[in-house]
Parts: sequence; C-alpha cells; structure tokens
Amino acid sequence: MNTIAKSRTSMSASKFTLLCNSHKCRVKLSGVAWVTACSHVFCDQHGSEEFSRTPAVCPACSSMLSGKLDVLRTELTPSEQYKAMVLVGLQPETVLEISHKAIDFWIYQINQERLLMEYNLSRAGGQVLQMEKFMIQQNQSREHELNALKGEISSLKKMLEEYKRKYSEVLERLNERNKQYQKLQGLLDSLRMHTMGTVEKDTVPHTFTTGLVKQRSPLSSPSFIGPEADRFFSLGPESAKTFFQFSTPTQDKTHSFIKKN
Ligand SMILES: [Zn+2]
Ligand SMILES: [Zn+2]
Repeated sequence: MNTIAKSRTSMSASKFTLLCNSHKCRVKLSGVAWVTACSHVFCDQHGSEEFSRTPAVCPACSSMLSGKLDVLRTELTPSEQYKAMVLVGLQPETVLEISHKAIDFWIYQINQERLLMEYNLSRAGGQVLQMEKFMIQQNQSREHELNALKGEISSLKKMLEEYKRKYSEVLERLNERNKQYQKLQGLLDSLRMHTMGTVEKDTVPHTFTTGLVKQRSPLSSPSFIGPEADRFFSLGPESAKTFFQFSTPTQDKTHSFIKKN
C-alpha cells in the first residue's frame, strides 16, 4: 500500500510541469529557470528581467531577495555528470535536508497550482452558474414570447375561422339571393312574355278603342265626312230623296203622332 501510494505521488509529481510564476506569463518551464528562497520559479526571461535590479523583489509574493543565494539560476534537467557530482561528499543528513527542501519547493508549487486551479474552477463555476441563470432567464423570456405568439396565433386562427364562417354565410346568402334573383328574373321573363302576348291581343282592341275615339272625334272632321258624304251624295237623287225622306220621318212621325193624337 505504502509503495503504491509513493509510486502514485511520484508519478503525479513527475507529470507535473513547473510554470513561470509570473501570472501574465505562466509558460511551461524547461532548460534554465530562476528559483527563489520564497519557493517561486520564473522563466529565464522574466527571472533575468526581475532579478537584475537591486534590491531584488519576488514578482509573485513581493519578498525581498537580498541574500546572495535567495535567487538562483538553475538547470532544470541537469546533466548526468552534474547529478553524479552535486551532492557527493555531503553528509547523508545534509543530502536528505537538501532533498527535503527541494521536495518542499515542489510540493509548494503543486499546491499553488492546485489553489489557482481551484480558484479558476470556482470562478468558472460562478460564471457557469451566471450563464445558466442568464440562459434560464432568456429561456423564460423566450417561452413567454413564444406563449404570447402562440396565443396571438390561436386568436388569429379563431378570427380566421370566424371570417371563414362569415364568408361562407355570406356566400350562402349570396347564393340564396342569386337563386331568388334567378327565380325573380325567370318570373319577370315569363311575365314579360305573358304581357307581350296579351299586349299583342290587347293592342287590337286598344287600337280599336283609340280608333273609336279617332273615329268618333273625326266625325266632325271632313276626312270622315268627306267619303261618307261622298257615299251619300253618290247615291244619286233617288237615294238622296230617300235620305232626306228618311231624315225627315221625325217630322212625319211627329206629324202622325200629332195626327194620331
Ligand atoms: Zn515567464
Ligand atoms: Zn516569492
């Protein structure tokens, strides 16, 4: 168990890559890096920029690094020769102390990264929550809008149905009226035909009656008297005599009447 745990930590530790502690840089470190007594590490560029000034101040924690060995430019992947020689000759306790300090630095860096990740994660979580809230609000407003539109659509549909119904009613009424009109037209036509027929019959007596009037009125007109008179006068003296005789019987009658009386 212990060995497994150890191997695990060593595995995760070896997988961990140091990043430049300058928060605007955070580049993955390799080759040469600058390490500080306050357990911070910087890329060669930022380290040489910051620590060329005196007094040197850690850009991560603002610690004063005035000691001779407070800042160290170091090789992160030292050569085999260096590794073989750097701790040689030191007391085992000293070797362990140095290793302990180096491991402490490593643990601190990992911890700082973890804290930063947690902070970023919580911030991202907050942003996600805010986004979710915003999305929920947006969804709600969209839903409200959608519902309003649906309501509008349904009312419009109702209106359309009403209009359709009214239209069909009007159409039906129009058809009814049309039928009535047709019927009336037919009736009118047949009546006209009928009256035309009766008028043709009527025109004879009508013209007759008017003729009568004409005949009656021109009685005094010479156009009637002319031919009649002609007829009378063409009758000759005999007929004229009879005519005159005929025209006088009233006198005769009255005479005879008088005579009788
Ligand atoms: Zn850097
Ligand atoms: Zn520092």
